[in-house]
Amino acid sequence: MRNRAVFLDRDGVINASPTQKRYITSWEEFRFLPGALAALQALKTSRRKVIVVSNQAGVGRGILQASQLREITRRMLQATRAAGGRIDAVYYCTHSPEEGCPCRKPRAGLLRKAARRLSINLERSFVVGDNVTDIQMGAAAGCRTVLVLTGITERKDAKQMAVSPDKTVRDLQQAVGWILRQR
Ligand SMILES: [Mg+2]
Ligand SMILES: [Zn+2]
Repeated sequence: MRNRAVFLDRDGVINASPTQKRYITSWEEFRFLPGALAALQALKTSRRKVIVVSNQAGVGRGILQASQLREITRRMLQATRAAGGRIDAVYYCTHSPEEGCPCRKPRAGLLRKAARRLSINLERSFVVGDNVTDIQMGAAAGCRTVLVLTGITERKDAKQMAVSPDKTVRDLQQAVGWILRQR
């Protein structure tokens, strides 16, 4: 397990969380958050792998088609590359909560799958997320965790989470800045 990684949640970290609708179902609805592309660009200079891990239960619920999710992912990767940024892999849990799968956050199945496939040392890796479930997943796998306030969690709620993040910052750009300063 020789590689180190930065695992990024998608909605609320890279792109603006869907508000009224609970899922982003087309590229037209996908909006990079301010500074997110710059953060992905900053990660390119690090030796860490950049891996997106995201629950997209809309697929399991029949609200989002797998082909729509693929297209959104393709465009996200394309836009990231065009901006000089880096995303090495994307892992989704597409199950509905009722299926009780091992890969839906707060469970750590997505991290473990990526670790197996890409030979990643989870203890030397980071998870960045906007939700307590991201922090729980990271903590369960032994990763260090960073909470960003660009999504579902507001600053006033950050102090009383079920599992505390190692660091709380404003956005992905600050998160990456902090991660790149860690050993
Ligand atoms: Mg999120
Ligand atoms: Zn799953």
